[in-house]
Amino acid sequence: MQYISTRGGTLGQFSDVLLEGLAPNGGLAVPETLPRLSAEDLERLRPLSYPELATEIIGLFATDIPRDDLARLTAAAYGGGKFAADEIVPLSEIGEGMTLVGLSEGPTLAFKDMAMQFLGEALEYVLEKNDRVLNVLGATSGDTGSAAEHALRGRDRVSVFMLSPQGRMSAFQRAQMYSLQDENVHNIAVEGVFDDCQNLVKRLATDLDFKRAHSLGAVNSINFGRISAQIAYYVWAWLRVTDKVAPTERADFQVSFAVPSGNFGNILSGHYAKSMGVPIRTLVLASNENNVLDEFFRTGHYRPRSAENTLATSSPSMDVSRASNLERFVFDLLGRDPERTAAAWHELEERDEIDLSGELDRFESEFGIVSGTSTHDDRIATIREFSESSGVILDPHTADGAKVARAHVEAGIPMLVLETAKPAKFADLITEALGTTVEPDADTQAMLDAPARVTNMPHDEQQLRAYINERALR
Ligand SMILES: *Cc1c(COP(=O)(O)O)cnc(C)c1O
Repeated sequence: MQYISTRGGTLGQFSDVLLEGLAPNGGLAVPETLPRLSAEDLERLRPLSYPELATEIIGLFATDIPRDDLARLTAAAYGGGKFAADEIVPLSEIGEGMTLVGLSEGPTLAFKDMAMQFLGEALEYVLEKNDRVLNVLGATSGDTGSAAEHALRGRDRVSVFMLSPQGRMSAFQRAQMYSLQDENVHNIAVEGVFDDCQNLVKRLATDLDFKRAHSLGAVNSINFGRISAQIAYYVWAWLRVTDKVAPTERADFQVSFAVPSGNFGNILSGHYAKSMGVPIRTLVLASNENNVLDEFFRTGHYRPRSAENTLATSSPSMDVSRASNLERFVFDLLGRDPERTAAAWHELEERDEIDLSGELDRFESEFGIVSGTSTHDDRIATIREFSESSGVILDPHTADGAKVARAHVEAGIPMLVLETAKPAKFADLITEALGTTVEPDADTQAMLDAPARVTNMPHDEQQLRAYINERALR
């Protein structure tokens, strides 16, 4: 399988794009052709365990990794008791025609573990093969950084330098990162806000000499390895729902998904699953108050907002106003034409906006994507209502998904709501919604009590350079 840039040109194979999601011309890596899954293929996948299924799905994209090797990587990623549920991704009905798809059973209690655990294994494998090392440099406001650190901790050929804004994360988020005692994990708390961290990362990553000399890389949400690993749980969820359907009716049995969205990574994987032939009727995109994506899917106008115009909400992992993966969808929307895609992003640079309103009628009819916005009050009400009706406590992001999903439930078509985090991560909001406190379990308490391993640093590029220079793997 060859990879191409959304703005033209070829990029090599899976192993090549695993380290570098961004093409030199600014485009994103996408497969040259999308593989197809026939009804027979899907039936063949039915008896597989989650790691086995992941091998088959990722294997369609990672054709340069021998199948036996890939099977070892997925067994390590999704085995060893790292996920709380035996089935890795459990499904449970929550009423109103909805089923919760448990993507948050991993070590950081959020769906990013699903992709990041695989990426950690795959990165080490590829680095080993090429006798290379990688120093991952990133900025986080919470979830991405902890998922990356938990996936990369203790590895030989990878180290992590993760910048976070001093005093801006919840106690839980801080503990999840700073409690790690592994030598290859470097937590740097920067005096400033998330954007200050992000800017420091950008400055170092665009200094190509420094980047090369220190083998810097990223594991951000445009990484195609992450996107491919996420396709597996869309297939898994369809299989588990149709286990209960008569065999003769399975092939055409459709389900819909509701996806709490920020960077458009999760739902992009759903879009690929649907394009590959998984019987998905609707992909419901849920935004929070930072509803740039909802606006796009309702109007065809993509208008990213600045950091100053991005609100801090109670579903913080969706506080995104520039959806880095959207370009991959737009590439498909524009007939996979790199020239039209490049022109669209040129338009964005010139006018801070892309006008695709001419394609609006295809969003739902051809791609099955609809959208909606959920606010703080919606999320509180939704958490309360599902707690009362089914006893299930939704995390605030998942509540956004369930809220928007309600408007799109159709008779006879299960609505699968992706659970993108566990409520224990957001205890304050759960208390606001339900009036009860969420007691941490023993593991969580131990994590909260662990000594913090973190370096405080002013917002100073030279200090950061010196720090990395001293500690980077070579
Ligand atoms: C990252 C994240 C999201 C948004 O996912 P995208 O792939 O960026 O659209 C939603 N919910 C939670 C809890 C997350 O951590």
